[in-house]
Order: sequence, then C-alpha cells, then structure tokens
Amino acid sequence: MFRAKNRAKDRAQEPPAEIQKPDEQWKRDLTREQYNVLRRGHTEMAFTGALLRNKKTGSYVCAGCGSELFRSDAKFNSGTGWPSFFEPAVAQAVELRSDYSMLMRRTEVICRRCGGHLGHVFRDGPRPTGQRYCINSAALAFEPTADPDQES
Ligand SMILES: [Zn+2]
Repeated sequence: MFRAKNRAKDRAQEPPAEIQKPDEQWKRDLTREQYNVLRRGHTEMAFTGALLRNKKTGSYVCAGCGSELFRSDAKFNSGTGWPSFFEPAVAQAVELRSDYSMLMRRTEVICRRCGGHLGHVFRDGPRPTGQRYCINSAALAFEPTADPDQES
C-alpha cells in the first residue's frame, strides 16, 4: 500500500523554483501585502482584493514573477470574497501541495516559477472541472487583452 501511493514530497526534495531571490530582495520588490501573501503564505481579508470583481478579459499573472497563472474565461463569482478560477491557464504554471496548517487538510496553490504562495484549491467549484482555485488578489497582477476593436 505504502509503495503504491504517490506520497507528497518534502519541500526539500522538490526542484528549486526557477526564480530565487533572497528574502530581502523580495521585500524590496513587492508591496507589503504582496510579500505577506506570496512569501509568507498569508491570506488577505475576504472582499478586500483589488481584482475580486474584475470582469475584464485578460490574463492573471503572478505578482512576484509575471508568470501567467489564470485567464479571465476561467474566473467565476464564488461568493467567497477571493478571486476564484475553475482551472489554471496552464496546468504546469502552478504547483499543488498538501497543507495541514490551520488544523485542516487543504491543497496549497503555488506559482511554479517563483515558489510564491497563491492560495488554495477546493473541490466545490463549477463545471467543467469542479475545482475552485481560491486565489489571493494580492498574489496576482492583471494584464488586459488588447481589444482590436477599441484601438484607435
Ligand atoms: Zn511567480
């Protein structure tokens, strides 16, 4: 039983993130809120995030490294107070890890490129995936898609 299981690896055994910076550098490069979420794993207060109600068409990229994480067509209103997506832009952009903090078994969502904490994923999302990526607004930056009809 033990051997057949694909057990969660220790953090130390994981390949290092592509982008690595000393903590002091992250502190300088990020806002206080971005730093607390991405590098310290904090969760922003519900209904406070700048991108929660954003309905524009475009990409949600990592606030730490600019890697594309989610797209507007997978965003939905979950009512939870955090930006929610039913799938990542590309599966490889995020890394999932078991998280046993807060006395709950949750799955943490991490940016694969810089190792930044993004949020958690739950299994009560809408179709087609049934997944709910509950992501901190502070971990994201929004890049609108250029609309050719609106270019002058
Ligand atoms: Zn990143």
